Amino acid sequence: MSNKQDKNCIFCKIIKKEIPSDVILENKDFIAILDINPVNKGHILILIKDHCKNLTDFPEDKGKELIIFAKKISSAIVKATNADGFNFSMNNEAPAGQMIFHAHFHLIPRFKEDGLRHWPHKKYLDGEKEQLADKIKKIMEK
Ligand code: AMP
Ligand code: ZN
Repeated sequence: MSNKQDKNCIFCKIIKKEIPSDVILENKDFIAILDINPVNKGHILILIKDHCKNLTDFPEDKGKELIIFAKKISSAIVKATNADGFNFSMNNEAPAGQMIFHAHFHLIPRFKEDGLRHWPHKKYLDGEKEQLADKIKKIMEK
């Protein structure tokens, strides 16, 4: 196998077929599998085949291919599960919910009455929003 691997990584083992999984779609750079503990049934994980940790080291040149891959699968999941929508997301680092440190994206079918809660929203203090926007922009200028 020519892909970059980490021998201790569970997703690398799935990619190498050392651990079984339900493969939905595969090409030279990505593999889509059913999540073993779905948020909703039909929950899919898209794994990049070259081991990297998360978005911070995800190869930019694979972006377009990822979107094409995800769009194809998402429309199939919606049809297969009769979903009303879907989430496409990525957890980055443990505080954000990342449990497996091999970059992957979640595709989760959603239903009108599926009982899942969306994130609660917070309020900014006066002036805080503008200050933070400036701070982020300055960091990106460096
Ligand atoms: P994350 O929290 O973003 O790192 O997501 C990791 C996901 O991997 C979770 O939703 C798990 O249910 C899923 N998972 C863990 N082990 C396996 C496995 N062997 N096959 C399929 N999905 C898995
Ligand atoms: Zn890996």
